[in-house]
Amino acid sequence: MTNQDTIFGKIIRREIPADIVYEDDLALAFKDVQPQAPIHILVIPKKPIVKLADAEESDRDLLGHLLLTAKRVAQEAGLTNGYRVVINTNSDGGQSVYHLHLHILGGRQMTWPPG
Ligand code: 5GP
Repeated sequence: MTNQDTIFGKIIRREIPADIVYEDDLALAFKDVQPQAPIHILVIPKKPIVKLADAEESDRDLLGHLLLTAKRVAQEAGLTNGYRVVINTNSDGGQSVYHLHLHILGGRQMTWPPG
């Protein structure tokens, strides 16, 4: 099994449907199927980085691009009052899909600490 064999790899390859809101050469953004806020969008790299802990120095530009993509997608979603960006990493971080992704959560007041 390659890294591309996650559910997100299938979404990138259009093997399963997703509500895609943004795409470019490096990144894809789509609505989370189980939203935890009125707006819940995932931003993923097309490169199958398994988790943040596996990102390398050579991924510097890509990681910056993902953050700027999150900003762009949040803006386009109308989240002018703010939003939260989350990267769950590995088992203690609560990661369930092992293809790096940023959660953009908005449309309600977020609380702290998170669960
Ligand atoms: P994690 O728990 O790894 O941080 O986040 C994975 C996220 O992917 C979850 O919020 C989950 O709802 C979402 N997800 C899992 N499978 C699918 C899918 O097939 N389509 C979409 N759009 N989201 C998915």
